[in-house]
Amino acid sequence: MAQDRKKVLVLGAGYAGLQTVTKLQKELSADEADITLINKNKYHYEATWLHEASAGTLNYEDLIYPIESVIKEDKVKFINAEVTKIDRNAKKVETNHGIYDYDILVVALGFESETFGIDGMKDHAFQIENIETARRLSRHIEDKFANYAASKEKDDKDLAILVGGAGFTGIEFLGELTDRIPELCNKYGVDQNKVRITCVEAAPKMLPMFSDELVNYAVNYLEDRGVEFKIATPIVACNEKGFVVKVNDQEQQLEAGTAVWAAGVRGSKLMEESFEGVKRGRIINKQDLTIEGHDDIFVIGDCSAFIPAGEERPLPTTAQIAMQQGEHVAKNIKNILNGQATTDFEYVDRGTVCSLGAHDGVGIVYGRDIAGKKAAFMKKVIDTRAIFKIGGVGLAFKKGKF
Ligand code: NAD
Repeated sequence: MAQDRKKVLVLGAGYAGLQTVTKLQKELSADEADITLINKNKYHYEATWLHEASAGTLNYEDLIYPIESVIKEDKVKFINAEVTKIDRNAKKVETNHGIYDYDILVVALGFESETFGIDGMKDHAFQIENIETARRLSRHIEDKFANYAASKEKDDKDLAILVGGAGFTGIEFLGELTDRIPELCNKYGVDQNKVRITCVEAAPKMLPMFSDELVNYAVNYLEDRGVEFKIATPIVACNEKGFVVKVNDQEQQLEAGTAVWAAGVRGSKLMEESFEGVKRGRIINKQDLTIEGHDDIFVIGDCSAFIPAGEERPLPTTAQIAMQQGEHVAKNIKNILNGQATTDFEYVDRGTVCSLGAHDGVGIVYGRDIAGKKAAFMKKVIDTRAIFKIGGVGLAFKKGKF
């Protein structure tokens, strides 16, 4: 009997992959399928909280929990390995710890930072990409303050931070910085007036999905707390001194002890190596979340580009979408195992909140603009809900934001 069981292989334990697996283990009995989850870390991390760990307002340990704490061993086998190749013709996945074959594959390998080949960016700028990059960045910022305080000849560049990109990641990181800087100034006896935080954005408008009122609210909030914005100013290079930007066709050097690239993400590089028609690590899905020519492969989360029926542009890459896709794929896998047809994915947009530190924010919730403490509260609800959906009440009490 056991050899008749279909092999379901899930790659990645981010929001999409882990939601798939936790839903599957609820829906299926142990003898209905062999479910295997492969992930390069033993832990899951809350990618939507990385800006907090990167600024140092949250400890990195608060973002992570062991994958094994949310999976049922009798139903799901967890393999701690890094995927190196997806061979869709042989229906095999290669990792640094062995090769796994599958009947149904779920690719949920998440995002990476995208520097668009900008000269020096990878070498000289910090990224907001994973737990390691977050730890490196928060340590670096604090080291610069400590160094400034300890030096006889003060270098004001130690207190200058450049942030590239005013998308959600850039703005949320800036919000956390404005919470963190007063703490650091206090700790190291530094005059806060000497701290310079500059955000450089290529586009003439930031956060284009929000109304002008919400954007103005966010900009005023951050400017009141010392952030300077340079908009319509593309970054063209990065070096040990900071960013090189273009102003009126002239290159200008912006100098700072910390340069942070928060201006682009892409899906996993393995996507281009494994499939055709992939752009920036994302592949267009069919409506049931499989991909063209492969009814046995689902691609979800930041590696997917799902275009809702009748629309032209793919949905953005957010945790909310990744989790809804994970739940839907679990249902579709159950359908396949029961010999039924798969169903189309329909995204329910509950809204988006962009935090401005722990106590403020802007957003759209169920179609209504919100700003201020209400938005900050909603953001904590969203963050806690994501934990609850995957790990239940126990994990929500342990890791949720109350
Ligand atoms: P993004 O691509 O949305 O924004 C990047 C910003 O950088 C853009 O404003 C762009 O104009 C700017 N930029 C690009 N190249 C530049 C250059 N050379 N010089 C200066 N500026 C440049 O990236 P993101 O903010 O990391 O967001 C990625 C995805 O994750 C989005 O879909 C976003 O909606 C989602 N996200 C959502 C939340 C949330 O819901 N709270 C939080 C973080 C990210």
